[in-house]
Amino acid sequence: MSSSKTSSTILPPATLGMLGGGQLGRFFVAAAHEMGYKVWVLDPDPHSPAGLIADRHLVAAYEDYAALDELGGGCAAVTTEFENVPAGTLDYLSKFIPVHPAASAVAVCQNRIAEKSFLADNGLPHGPFAVIRSEDDVRHADAGLFPAVLKVARFGYDGKGQARVASHDEAVAAFQHFKGEPCVLEKMLTLDCEVSVVLARDETGTMRCFAAGENRHRNGILDVTIAPAQTSAGLRDEARRIAERIAEKLGYVGTLGVEFFVCGGELVVNEMAPRPHNSGHHTIDACDASQYEQQVRALCGLPLATPRQHSVAVMVNLLGELWYADGKGHGAYHEPDWAVLHAVPGLRLHLYGKHHARPGRKMGHFVVTGEDADEVLQRALQARAAIGIRDE
Ligand code: ADP
Ligand code: MG
Repeated sequence: MSSSKTSSTILPPATLGMLGGGQLGRFFVAAAHEMGYKVWVLDPDPHSPAGLIADRHLVAAYEDYAALDELGGGCAAVTTEFENVPAGTLDYLSKFIPVHPAASAVAVCQNRIAEKSFLADNGLPHGPFAVIRSEDDVRHADAGLFPAVLKVARFGYDGKGQARVASHDEAVAAFQHFKGEPCVLEKMLTLDCEVSVVLARDETGTMRCFAAGENRHRNGILDVTIAPAQTSAGLRDEARRIAERIAEKLGYVGTLGVEFFVCGGELVVNEMAPRPHNSGHHTIDACDASQYEQQVRALCGLPLATPRQHSVAVMVNLLGELWYADGKGHGAYHEPDWAVLHAVPGLRLHLYGKHHARPGRKMGHFVVTGEDADEVLQRALQARAAIGIRDE
């Protein structure tokens, strides 16, 4: 049996460890700094957004055990912003410092087969699916699943590693294209809308939840979040209850994101993220405690905040295509005219400091806040058009 370290309260000026250096890690670093902590980030990319602002950036692979020894030796506790951190890395670190969330919870969220099986085993609502490990599995898949989406079990994100397939033959071709990697085949559902819940859970099992937001995607990537979701309060509450059951069953400690489909008025869990979530960015601007502050609190054994959302918020993602002349990733490369956004009342711009924009890459976002949901949405969509985001 491995003996993992449990935490007592960790107070400033302690140093916290972050596995992963993306924008979610960068906002964690900012929150931790405001609260008086230091942060070391481990990420192999020397230009990682979180690494740039961390007190120390260990530029190393997630399985570089010498770097892990340093991180473990220098930090009071460690968390992650990236679901694909190898479970073995989290297990290894947990031998000498508290690690939240635990390897076991991350392992479920980082593999679509484990994730779907977890939902099925725990009686949580999920869509029809089949586990695909061979071409035979594809050929024997229930015909009722089509039209379907074939998704690689591991390392997919922002719609990558997914193929829409109308028949067994198309699914076989897509499975071959994915080089026979284990996959799930999901029935393509007709969605009323998509919502997500971000919550925090501490070691004693106390949970604090942000109101569910509504997510609009474009090309499989989150485009706009409206928070709170303009659904019934009953649906938002049900989403919260399901997310809480998931966190409890996972024994989760930290900030967790749960994505849902709404189909015929019913909630279906799509996937879980063992970290803060893109749809929770607005909690920085529209709540008195953000999803990142909650991540710090849960990691350090501080009491979780009871976040109050003081404004309606609309978040718009800024993707790399915006840096190109045609707004789609072609033509001359230029910096978007940020002054256009700074002129919009109640708009806050967040840029991640990534040094090169590629189409589909998340480069920044903005959040518009206000009192009336329709008005805030209109102001945000006008700003979105003004900066040059075009709908096909
Ligand atoms: P990721 O966010 O990791 O890229 P998702 O599984 O959340 O992968 O898929 C991205 C988006 O694609 C979803 O938010 C949804 O808009 C759409 N999508 C995925 N699976 C389905 C499905 N089974 N039915 C309908 N739409 C889907
Ligand atoms: Mg998703």
